[in-house]
Amino acid sequence: MQPKITRQLFDKVILPVYAPAQFIPVKGKGSRVWDQNGEEYIDFAGGIAVNALGHCHPRLVKALHQQSEKIWHVSNVFTNEPALNLAQKLIDNTFADRIFFANSGAEANEAAFKLARYYAIEKYNPYKTKIIAFHQSFHGRTFFTVSVGGQAKYSDGFGPKPADIIHVPFNNLDAVKAVIDDHTCAVVLEPVQGEGGLTCASLEFLQGVRELCDKYHALLIFDEVQCGMGRTGSLYTYQQYGVTPDILTSAKALGGGFPISAMLTTEDIATVMHPGVHGTTYGGNPLACAVGCEAFDIINTAEVLEGVQKRRAIFIEQLENINDKFRVFREYRGKGLLLGAELQPEFHHKARDFLNVATEFRVMILNAGPNVLRFTPSLIISEEEIREGMMRFAKAVEKVVNA
Ligand SMILES: *Cc1c(COP(=O)(O)O)cnc(C)c1O
Repeated sequence: MQPKITRQLFDKVILPVYAPAQFIPVKGKGSRVWDQNGEEYIDFAGGIAVNALGHCHPRLVKALHQQSEKIWHVSNVFTNEPALNLAQKLIDNTFADRIFFANSGAEANEAAFKLARYYAIEKYNPYKTKIIAFHQSFHGRTFFTVSVGGQAKYSDGFGPKPADIIHVPFNNLDAVKAVIDDHTCAVVLEPVQGEGGLTCASLEFLQGVRELCDKYHALLIFDEVQCGMGRTGSLYTYQQYGVTPDILTSAKALGGGFPISAMLTTEDIATVMHPGVHGTTYGGNPLACAVGCEAFDIINTAEVLEGVQKRRAIFIEQLENINDKFRVFREYRGKGLLLGAELQPEFHHKARDFLNVATEFRVMILNAGPNVLRFTPSLIISEEEIREGMMRFAKAVEKVVNA
């Protein structure tokens, strides 16, 4: 018999880079999760904006099961039907003509940044390598992507960083104007900053950055790893702004919980690439792509996309009720179901406390930095589940406020 797996084992066997909750989830269905003791939780975290269709959606389970009996993995020495199918769906519904699949958001961004550098060097000159990125941005944890990310605390301590990356304040067009030049290969941003506190780009900012990129022949890269795939109420967030990037990265919700990511770009940019320049063993894996196809077909419907704003409104109404009693929130941030509640100054640096106490009352939430609570539930969470989860969350807020 296997020894019982306990939370204590984590502290012994896992590299200590996380501080997970004290319970271990063992089962999920829709927006509910059960732990080892059979306690039931309402999930407003969605695995960090990944489980866009909740846990174990029957259609995703079926797609995974069916593909699992056909073929699991062939590598990119061979192609496969699910990958081509998913690529075609992405192309038919976005600006893109070409897709590169990988397994995580960081890898999709790594591919995007390498492509932007390669394109500029091939097409213009070897000195066109500057990447402009933004404070508080997050692009993943590989050394290139963490260096492009705008939080030095994540990239310091690992020795020399990839060079020629500059960070300026988000939503500040003058700052971009001050640093962009003919040596710039790319400007990289999240239309809604996820980890950085759920700040939305302003329309003027995105339009202005697009113009500057065109003027200096720099590529505009949108990291939609968190805000894409229906999360904000359109398939991709750029479609709401009407500002089109040259490269877009997608991950998190793309596989509905199965690891997969994609980098989308245009035919013109793709033409600089040829076999051997970049690659991955698992990217475009048939299992991941089969689930991705099914998730795509469910998310990319009026029913799911239009439901996002309705659900946001219910969340905000419920948060307002809590706020009427406890005065903890200063403003609501983000877009759609990438929803943030910024804490009042007296609760700053306490976001993690709210998270921890929330689990005591059996509701899973997230933070985005020290001062913002983040809600990234299933896009199809029911109204009853929102209300029930918020009743539990209200008790958690009461406990934190009275602590
Ligand atoms: C989560 C995230 C990433 C990194 O994705 P991983 O799958 O963890 O590598 C990159 N960019 C944004 C905007 C993210 O939210």
